[in-house]
Amino acid sequence: MLELEDPSVHEALEKAAGREVAKMTRPASEVSPQTVRTPVVGSGRRCPVCNELELSGRQTVCSAACRRARTRQRETAARQVRDQGIRVLLETALRKLEEGGP
Ligand SMILES: [Zn+2]
Repeated sequence: MLELEDPSVHEALEKAAGREVAKMTRPASEVSPQTVRTPVVGSGRRCPVCNELELSGRQTVCSAACRRARTRQRETAARQVRDQGIRVLLETALRKLEEGGP
């Protein structure tokens, strides 16, 4: 691997082959080359939210809109679970009250 953090190396690269080399050897992607193992093309995975657009790389949804939608779905599900829990607790509390006792 080329070490591009060193300014002199960076400069030498640019002089040697122009600015394109620096751009190509330093992609803007947040994923480093070492962590990419599975090929992107032909993954066949689709966005689980809209189920229309194909995902690429490490995407889990196709767009920001779908990400928001998925977050909303999760919040709704979590709220339903919580409401269910509260309902059970309330019913238990009511039953205890009706039973009387200590
Ligand atoms: Zn989508």
